Amino acid sequence: MKVHKIINGKMQENCYVLDLGKNQAFVIDPGLGTKDILKTIDSLKLKVIAVLLTHGHFDHIYSAAKFKSLGAKIYITEKDAPKLLDNELNMGFMFEEEVEACLPDGFLVEGKNKIEEAEFEVVFSPGHTSGSCVIIFDNFAFTGDTYFGDGIYGRCDFLDGNIQDMKESLKKLVPYLKGKKVLAGHD
Ligand SMILES: [Zn+2]
Repeated sequence: MKVHKIINGKMQENCYVLDLGKNQAFVIDPGLGTKDILKTIDSLKLKVIAVLLTHGHFDHIYSAAKFKSLGAKIYITEKDAPKLLDNELNMGFMFEEEVEACLPDGFLVEGKNKIEEAEFEVVFSPGHTSGSCVIIFDNFAFTGDTYFGDGIYGRCDFLDGNIQDMKESLKKLVPYLKGKKVLAGHD
């Protein structure tokens, strides 16, 4: 599997395109840079079959509705799913960004997940948001805004953030992140 990173939009959010082979791709956290993300996918001649979201903040979900309209299925944890439908919950209102509402097609579950032929692991990691998760593919850990590497973790002072939960999540993540390349939601 090949991973392409696109730094997109004014929040400089990292979107990742996972080339699964056979021209199929997953996209993790398509944010505000819809055009840049689409351009990269076009140039790679990939078809996006699913969008996986590490959490429901606007700068990570902004382009989800666009991908859904192009035929991709949308996955997020059940806890953060309401953020796909509410511009206050996803924090877009604070940054004057209107996120197009979009229903998920399925929920990411803790442990093993399988979409089409692709298998991956999800670790729930509440703290930054209540429904944050880390998505693990092979040797890559897509940590969203939970963990940025080098001991740096995400803010917990947003609406449903919780520092105590974050501490528990970081402890829980230690064995999962061992030997993995951490690919976070921002550099
Ligand atoms: Zn966030």
